[in-house]
Amino acid sequence: MASTLGYVKHAAERKAVEVLVDGMLKNVKNCSDKRQFYLKIVSMAQKFYGKAFTPDKVEAVRKAAEDPENRWFKFIDEIIEETDPRFAKMTLLNLGYEAFLRGTKMIRENRVKYKCNIPWLILFDPTSACNMHCEGCWSGTYGHKNNLSFEDMDKIVTEGKELGVYLYLMTGGEPMVRKKDILKLMEKHRDCYFAAFSNSTLIDDALAAEVARLGNMTFFLSIEGTPDTNDARRGDGHYAAVMKAMDILKKHGVLFGTSICYTSANIEAVTSDDFFRLLEEKGAKFGFYFHYMPTGRNAVPSLLPTPEQRAYMLERIRYVRSAESGISFYPMDFQNDGEFVGGCIAGGRNYFHINSSGDAEPCVFIHYSNTNIHENSVLEMLQSPLFMAYHEGQPFNRNHLRPCPMLENPQLLREMVEKSGAHQTNEEAPESAEELCEKCDDYAKEWAPVAERIWNSQIHRMPTYENYTPEKVLHTDRPVFENV
Ligand code: SF4
Repeated sequence: MASTLGYVKHAAERKAVEVLVDGMLKNVKNCSDKRQFYLKIVSMAQKFYGKAFTPDKVEAVRKAAEDPENRWFKFIDEIIEETDPRFAKMTLLNLGYEAFLRGTKMIRENRVKYKCNIPWLILFDPTSACNMHCEGCWSGTYGHKNNLSFEDMDKIVTEGKELGVYLYLMTGGEPMVRKKDILKLMEKHRDCYFAAFSNSTLIDDALAAEVARLGNMTFFLSIEGTPDTNDARRGDGHYAAVMKAMDILKKHGVLFGTSICYTSANIEAVTSDDFFRLLEEKGAKFGFYFHYMPTGRNAVPSLLPTPEQRAYMLERIRYVRSAESGISFYPMDFQNDGEFVGGCIAGGRNYFHINSSGDAEPCVFIHYSNTNIHENSVLEMLQSPLFMAYHEGQPFNRNHLRPCPMLENPQLLREMVEKSGAHQTNEEAPESAEELCEKCDDYAKEWAPVAERIWNSQIHRMPTYENYTPEKVLHTDRPVFENV
């Protein structure tokens, strides 16, 4: 009875949001006060987030929405205007309402109920197969023969939703090798949002049209700077393939972003003004920057950025996001933005990874596991020994510029893998935690003083919510936080 009531309430609530979104999208071209719709969405968010949305925050959003020159609201206007209305609607409903609002509330409740990490998103690999061979790719270490069946992927999403997870990211291998099954999954789970990290080469008009119709998947296209820096690591012709895919997605009104791995060799090319202007012109709206990680036997440790390069990256990405830059592209730096998400997000704290063999790993870069989707439920995976070691250990460092138990605190990964008895998951090229962490020891030592200097020179925001165990918050030395 309770679950029937819950279902009815959910359906009614989604319908109310749908009416609001339809109204906004109908008026988007000609309604001068369309920002009133944004404010209605903020009021709805208040209902879900409660105290986290303090009156001063609401007032700040209201002021920004009323300012016709506000950079971020102009950016949102632009995205909505350039996006296919069916796609925009599903993004607002599934990513906005289901994942951000309703899902967040559910996962917070389930973290308390199940006493383990419950993530906000799950990343999985539909396949390990890839039609490219990029230098230093960690993904190639799994081999190229494994696939999650449609039933495996359906199980992940079905069980994830029961816990409040409405966002699913896919990597690989090249996920689009499995585009038929992915479209089927999008059709079956019309209340979820999907995103694929793709090398672009398999994106064509037919796929883009279908994605625009379904509306519940975006893309992160891999690109690394200029044609020269890109093709040097990813292979001849790849840059041209990305340009073509961007044109196709833009033409069909499918929202997309980029996935950029920054290395000691490409850091200038992937952060130049010219590069950002190119992304803006091609229609990319957001992008993940990933610090190169030396995972796997194919890794090339000399590609690790130097401390100076990493410090430059931090400053550069924050500048591009600032009001002064004026670039219509929102970059996120997976390694340097720890402060905004409370440090390491892996082990199910905000996300975890299921590889194409079904092994659940705490992070896409950490190839150790005690649990597999073919034997365990999603909840059981989250309660497995290595995931619980993450749960107990987070935050791994209170300086969120040093968040990682591998890259910046390698001794911690060694200990967690040993204590949990997790096995390594690289089928073709096994690598022990000792071998992996050894490649990070020098890096961690060299970055630590630079990270301390930067961290101590900044004022940090006091988070309104952190999903660590309460004891952890009380007993860990906190850095100097101020409410700003
Ligand atoms: S394990 Fe390291 S790379 Fe993965 S989320 Fe945590 S901090 Fe980031």
